[in-house]
Amino acid sequence: MKVLCERILKEGKCFEGSILKVDKFINHQMDPNLMKQIAVEFIRRYASTEINKIITIEASGIAPAIMMGFLLDLPVVFAKKKTPSTMSDMLITKVFSFTKQREYNIVISKEYLTKEDKVLFVDDFLAYGNAAKGIIDLCAQAGAELVGMGFIIEKAFQHGRSIIEKAGVRCESLAIIESLENCKIKLRR
Ligand code: 5GP
Repeated sequence: MKVLCERILKEGKCFEGSILKVDKFINHQMDPNLMKQIAVEFIRRYASTEINKIITIEASGIAPAIMMGFLLDLPVVFAKKKTPSTMSDMLITKVFSFTKQREYNIVISKEYLTKEDKVLFVDDFLAYGNAAKGIIDLCAQAGAELVGMGFIIEKAFQHGRSIIEKAGVRCESLAIIESLENCKIKLRR
């Protein structure tokens, strides 16, 4: 996606440990117009797929997910990173965060992810695929059909895609980073 790649090259900043900071337009300050274009592109790529719900993980996935839900008139569910005291019947799984270097639980109420659902997952980044693995597990626990996963940015050198494809799930990324070596952003053209 050309406009996204241009923004990453212009405004993305590389940090120690192969971390790309895009908090000027994606996950801190957000550009709603770009977010809309991102949602439209995901919708175009999954146009022939039956979907009844968009799912994501808090917090950075919520913006593209809600934009898609709005455009498709579909409900959006985000997996929570803290268990609300009012939630009793839930699906739960563990995720390892490579940016924070620790494990945490994600939960979704059994009410909002069921065997009737055909869900598309969207998130800001695909790195090692740990968050994706957690979502694949939650969908399996619910008996929901995970019809695809969409990422705004994929860091191909961290190989998260192989986890998704091994699970037989379609994976689409709008910008693919080949390398962040020497803090230089190298995009796949
Ligand atoms: P994974 O679970 O695929 O290893 O990592 C994906 C999650 O980690 C995303 O939800 C994202 O929030 C965070 N993440 C991974 N790599 C980066 C990065 O380079 N920059 C930022 N800002 N977040 C990242």
